[in-house]
Amino acid sequence: MTTLTPETHTIRLRDGNELDIQGTRIGHASSAGDDEPHTNHPGEPFGMPGTRCRACRWIELSIYLVDAVYGVYTPDTETAENETAEAPQGRYLVHKLGQSIVPGEIIKVNLYWTDKAIDVVKSLLYQGRLDGANRLVAARAAQNDPEIYKALQVW
Ligand SMILES: [Zn+2]
Repeated sequence: MTTLTPETHTIRLRDGNELDIQGTRIGHASSAGDDEPHTNHPGEPFGMPGTRCRACRWIELSIYLVDAVYGVYTPDTETAENETAEAPQGRYLVHKLGQSIVPGEIIKVNLYWTDKAIDVVKSLLYQGRLDGANRLVAARAAQNDPEIYKALQVW
């Protein structure tokens, strides 16, 4: 296990602005593979909406232990389904980035702040399951944070 030291991280917000935090990124996972080839859209440069192609669209997940939040934070007022606490409060920040290289598609961002490790794990459940990159980021965070480790045993 490598020793993680707190540093400044620049967090992308939903409105495209950025927020600097001081803290430790205890887990990261991506649903994109290295040099993933385009799939499911032969002859087309990009997959149409609904086409599963991990080179066109993927998610990046990070879990931070937050020591401090810098700068002015102005959460936007739009709240999509399943989006929860926006205000920067809590030791943990779960940052979900839905990436797309398809022209015209927006990068989706979700921030979830909490003090409770169990809520970190619950925020990663999808239809009651912990799968894929969600499972991976939780497992990596558990290696660096004993409370998330415990939470992973009981969720
Ligand atoms: Zn593609």
